[in-house]
Amino acid sequence: MTDWIAAAAALTPETRLFIDGEFRPAADDATFPTFAPRDGTEIARVSSAGEADVDAAVTAAHRAFTSGIWARADRRERQRVLFRLADLMEEHLDELALLESIDSGHPISDARNVDVPNAIRVFRWYAEAIDKVSDQVAPAPEQALALVTREALGVIGAVVPWNYPLIITAWKAAPALATGNSVVLKPAENTSLSALKLAALAAAAGVPAGVFNVVPGLGPVAGQALGRHSLVDKITFTGSPKVGLGFLGYAAESNGKLVALELGGKSPQVVLADAPDLDAAASAIAWGIFYNAGQTCHGGSRLIVEESIHDELLTRVLAHASAFNIGDPLLADTQIGTIASATQLERVLSYVELARRDPSVTVYGGEVLQPDGLAGYYLAPTVFDGVDNSSPLGQEEIFGPALSVSTARSAAEAIALANDSEYGLAASIWTSDLATAHRAARELRAGTVWVNSYDVADVITPFGGFKRSGSGRDRSMHALDAYTALKTTWIDLGGGTLSSHAESE
Ligand code: NAD
Repeated sequence: MTDWIAAAAALTPETRLFIDGEFRPAADDATFPTFAPRDGTEIARVSSAGEADVDAAVTAAHRAFTSGIWARADRRERQRVLFRLADLMEEHLDELALLESIDSGHPISDARNVDVPNAIRVFRWYAEAIDKVSDQVAPAPEQALALVTREALGVIGAVVPWNYPLIITAWKAAPALATGNSVVLKPAENTSLSALKLAALAAAAGVPAGVFNVVPGLGPVAGQALGRHSLVDKITFTGSPKVGLGFLGYAAESNGKLVALELGGKSPQVVLADAPDLDAAASAIAWGIFYNAGQTCHGGSRLIVEESIHDELLTRVLAHASAFNIGDPLLADTQIGTIASATQLERVLSYVELARRDPSVTVYGGEVLQPDGLAGYYLAPTVFDGVDNSSPLGQEEIFGPALSVSTARSAAEAIALANDSEYGLAASIWTSDLATAHRAARELRAGTVWVNSYDVADVITPFGGFKRSGSGRDRSMHALDAYTALKTTWIDLGGGTLSSHAESE
């Protein structure tokens, strides 16, 4: 497909809630608009789930779970259905990519070649895992058998942000469904369309009614109702720290449900004077922050560079930044699309203003753009040089195409600055010295550390943060543990004598 603009105009996206195996409007018929960040126009009005709708979805999910139709189905049946879902996603790759691109502003080439294929890979990967994991037999006394088995938790409430709607949904839904749970997904209000398409494909693949539900809606209404629902066994959340911490409160005030949080970041890219290849570093730094217009939770938004190479590295980073093709996300050669919403653009611009008022900071870029006259949310790659790491530009998550540059006099000072953040999601270190690289990887307080690279990622490794960046881990086989609880079963093999040998509590 080449004319994505015409294809987008011909789309008729599903906009209703998906509850208990069927699409339906909100109980009170409420809707909210979703806008295309490429030109600011309204794409559609989406049904807005209220408390009654969330309750219906959770009740259906709970009913499906307790019926055992999915949780106790033959593992190979779950596997077959999830493989079929991945196949259907592949068959609908163009449509999913278009929905993702028009809703979020991701370049269509990223949506089609990265986002949707990654989401498909995640569903396949967890489908494959279903019959690769065995439970345990504990080393019990001779007259006993002690089994340690994993069981699905029940109803999983998945609340996701707008920056990578389909990938983050897959990170959560795929392992949750693979392990037999039911899921109620609350997409971000400005990016619900690909999730609703996923629901249709899941039903077509054979996911039973009630097992996968999607309730688009406003965060404080639908998100909160899910967080407070007493039949939800776990919330898996990705989004901002403020909202994420709110879910701990909802859990404490309802049923004490489990809460896993994947929150924000202010990830440092540390470049030491002995970096092996400054141009490779500059390219990785530019992609590390400007990819997806900087709206990546682990975007490398701080550059901490050793003083002696500051000027040379900055020149190269600026050269890479100015070479990006920024434009209409629906053009196949666009490399960087838009900021996802007018609100988010305003937020990023407030930091550009802050930087312009700071006499010690030099601002490069920062202009609002209108490629092809489009009134969308486009911003030139922006670099703030001379940032004091302890200032708001060094500490606060901007979540846009903005890089804060600080200098350090030594490797030790660079690592200390990198760790001087309330966040701890990701970090990189560029050095030619093996021992320095290993020491830095240990010392950097971040869930992922890259050495001489940035943003290498795959479902095979866990992803999540330290400190204010959250507590949960998505991806990898560890995610299977996140959606299961351990059960212990003692079996007496010795004619009722087991209890007399039991350890006293
Ligand atoms: P957000 O916290 O505003 O929204 C996330 C989700 O929470 C949305 O579905 C939203 O509708 C819902 N929500 C909003 N207010 C709510 C409330 N009061 N109660 C219940 N639910 C509510 O985040 P966002 O702006 O969509 O996403 C950007 C943030 O997400 C950034 O901070 C970014 O770093 C973070 N993020 C983190 C990761 C990670 O894995 N660590 C990945 C992507 C994004």
